[in-house]
Amino acid sequence: MAEIAISRGVDAALERGMEGRGLSREDALCLMQEGPLQPLLEAAAAVRDRAKGRSVSYSRKVFIPLTHLCRDYCGYCTFRSDPKPGEAAYMLPDEVLAVAEAGRRAGCKEALFSLGDQPERVFPEAKAFLKKLGFERTLEYLAAMSELVLEKTGLLPHSNPGVMGLEDLRRLRETNVSVGLMLESASPRLLRAGGAHWKAPDKVPSLRIQTMETAGQLSMAFTTGILMGIGETLEERVDALLAIRSVHEKYGNIQEVIVQPFRAKPDIRMANAPEPSKEDLERTIAVARLLFGGEMNLQSPPNLLSKDYPDLLKAGINDWGGISPVTKDFINPEAAWPQISSLAERSAGAGFVLRERLALYPEFCSRPEFVLPRLEPSLRKLRAENGYAREGV
Ligand code: SF4
Repeated sequence: MAEIAISRGVDAALERGMEGRGLSREDALCLMQEGPLQPLLEAAAAVRDRAKGRSVSYSRKVFIPLTHLCRDYCGYCTFRSDPKPGEAAYMLPDEVLAVAEAGRRAGCKEALFSLGDQPERVFPEAKAFLKKLGFERTLEYLAAMSELVLEKTGLLPHSNPGVMGLEDLRRLRETNVSVGLMLESASPRLLRAGGAHWKAPDKVPSLRIQTMETAGQLSMAFTTGILMGIGETLEERVDALLAIRSVHEKYGNIQEVIVQPFRAKPDIRMANAPEPSKEDLERTIAVARLLFGGEMNLQSPPNLLSKDYPDLLKAGINDWGGISPVTKDFINPEAAWPQISSLAERSAGAGFVLRERLALYPEFCSRPEFVLPRLEPSLRKLRAENGYAREGV
């Protein structure tokens, strides 16, 4: 009897998902826990195909790690660092420009600023660096560097600087075509001692949701997503997706949702934590697709699933995220080009056309409330008629 009830629940949830009627929390949970994988993947892929066709996008970006200093200590992070003697706290403006310029020469159109969260609140070295350049806060320096890159290179800035307040977002809106902040998880439980977000005050879910909402109030296109497999329960994972959906229902500003799997590395606090399986990742992507419907851009990075990454297309994604053709040392930027051609080949092998997009998705480019007039000329230079990236730029 219980089994019949479960399968009826699964069938009804799949049907609602397929019809685009929007999954409830119960539906999503039922599919996450009990949904047979193959029908679930097929439903998600069909919903994606109906709205997006058989194309998968990526953004050609150059990565600008403005500072690795961060006041948080997430258990899975390899990016952050404390100040080290002899190491600069931040990239200098000349360095920022040199990296961006190398990216532009390699055909990049997005300048992705990634940095730690509010280091100046805990590290005197960060404060001293900023003061020397006339800034009080990292986010002010970021706004100035975004301006520099936009003006001097024409690359479109997209910043990923952690929690942001109203004034921070207003300032970044002047130069950034979109901004990002992973929700990661909606579970405050993970902030407890030993949890993934222990000693990470900026990972309080309500603060991150607030940032997404404030960006929504300002009509800023927003990239967010979840990091799965960091100790959250399936209920909490579904709740994180629902929290993102709820912001999008209110403001319509979520341009893409990333489903990223946790990966263990030797030098992190969670080095021995189990990684989510490929099936878990596919299932989560498929549930996310049914939960958000066909129109949402759903991304999962190809480099986190080794050679099997084209399988993620079967789960309903339509974007691979930012791909950098620029090598880390910038000596041989051409050497990385085959990565993009191989992405195109592998996507084609799975029946998909790879298309380059900008840091602002095509459907947002055509909505004037999301593009400040001062950004329009820069966007126009890089954008084709259909809103994707212009070829040969
Ligand atoms: S907020 Fe967490 S994930 Fe982000 S840089 Fe800091 S420690 Fe790493």
